[in-house]
Amino acid sequence: MKKILLITTGGTISSLPSENGLIPADCSESIVRILNDKETTILLKNIMVLDSSNIQPEEWKMIAEAINETIQSVDGIIVTHGTDTMAYTTSMISFMIQNPPIPIVFTGSQLPIIHPLTDAVANLKCALEMAKSAYPGVFLAFDRKIILGCRAVKVRTEGFTAFESINFHSIGKITATGLHINESLLPHYTKPFKLCLNIETNVFLLKLTPTTNPNIVDLLIENGIRGIVIEAYGAGGISFIRRDFVSKIKQATEKQIPVVVCSQCLYESSNFQIYEVGKKALQNGAIDALDMTTESAVCKLMYALGQTKDIKEIRKIFSTPIASEIQTK
Ligand code: ASP
Repeated sequence: MKKILLITTGGTISSLPSENGLIPADCSESIVRILNDKETTILLKNIMVLDSSNIQPEEWKMIAEAINETIQSVDGIIVTHGTDTMAYTTSMISFMIQNPPIPIVFTGSQLPIIHPLTDAVANLKCALEMAKSAYPGVFLAFDRKIILGCRAVKVRTEGFTAFESINFHSIGKITATGLHINESLLPHYTKPFKLCLNIETNVFLLKLTPTTNPNIVDLLIENGIRGIVIEAYGAGGISFIRRDFVSKIKQATEKQIPVVVCSQCLYESSNFQIYEVGKKALQNGAIDALDMTTESAVCKLMYALGQTKDIKEIRKIFSTPIASEIQTK
């Protein structure tokens, strides 16, 4: 018998229709009914009933704590979660629950579990198969694909193929012959399991547009922001004429506020070495997020600032993969 912990948090999968639209409810018994099979014992922890738009760092900690309490006594963990912010949660849990000894699999659905056309059944069965697989890591199971938690991005509002694995192959899929995992893509954990709940939540994501006023950086600093992620253009471009963001990066870095730069493009790595508009950013202190998703870059900056405020150390943390969130060449 495999012992699987189910943590429920809300989301569409657990929602019911109301006058005010879909609202999350406690549908954990229906979820358990779908997961129950002869070879599995399901333990249930219903820790919150929230639309994931309301899931914030306080809830990330509750999820991490619920995982940590049981991680040593079960074979795998399934977390049901709303799809809207699931990629943020799976990225953050990849940094909070480091080197996990078992599979931790997040899933949800685009249609509620009570809907006759729901995708919840397939997603839950896929998550269960992965949770029983004994492959350790933080994963997201959706539409018969298994994606590393720190590589997942929600790309569709309605379609069932709601998640993609960005800059990294999906590590597994379900076909007519069952679950297939590409073992060469799994993260290689060499260190012992570690719980890291300490994060700095005063981190801001700034998406550049040709009219963004650089003074926003001064406002952020005046308001106590401790770290900034800038979504730059293309391979890595940041304006330095008229609306000069490069000198703002320098100013923030001199004040010990790390500025991480990533690309607005969903696919492929940033490379701030190619153009003058990228090199200048690096020369003035920017930290390159390389091929990380924006979700992972934001969460990793929160995690890094929770460990140290020293910019040199933060730079080191950013160049060292924790859960395969970056590929080092
Ligand atoms: N608004 C919902 C949520 O994120 C969407 C979903 O779960 O698909 O909780």
